[in-house]
Amino acid sequence: MCPLGLSRTQAVVYRGGLAPRVVFIGEAPGAAEDRAGLPFVGRSGRELDRAVAGLGLASEEYGVLNVLKCRPPENRFDPGAARICRPYLEQQLDLLQPEVIVTLGARALRAVDPAAPPILRSAGRPRDRGTRPHFPLIHPAAALRSRRLRARWNDDVRALGRWLAERPA
Ligand code: URA
Repeated sequence: MCPLGLSRTQAVVYRGGLAPRVVFIGEAPGAAEDRAGLPFVGRSGRELDRAVAGLGLASEEYGVLNVLKCRPPENRFDPGAARICRPYLEQQLDLLQPEVIVTLGARALRAVDPAAPPILRSAGRPRDRGTRPHFPLIHPAAALRSRRLRARWNDDVRALGRWLAERPA
């Protein structure tokens, strides 16, 4: 059994459309998500929603989930829990069948594409390895931490928008 199930308030599974074109994958629920039972509803979520609004995706065209479904104590990402939780992530992607995945931060990138270069080298460019094309971004929380990373986040989100626009819908 996963120890995170003992400390969380509730599992945080998904928010978004049921046949999404794009699925954004984050790391793990934080305190706000643990309370609400929905992913990305705190400060990082507001940043993510702002970025998504700029991409012109309608609400049913995207979805948001995390590698971990339960908040880790002190928000410390737990790689052991990520291994235990992995079948849920795979089932979610099998059910949702998104056209593309957007990973948010290093942990989500590692979960989807273990061979990818480090996050700051991978972010902002699509990767077509594996079963589904994916586009790594830095985590929106990083964009809230420094001006340099905010500029990087904004540039990479614009690159994501161009990549999505070039793909047949
Ligand atoms: N950060 C994440 O990675 N996921 C959330 O749901 C919230 C913050």
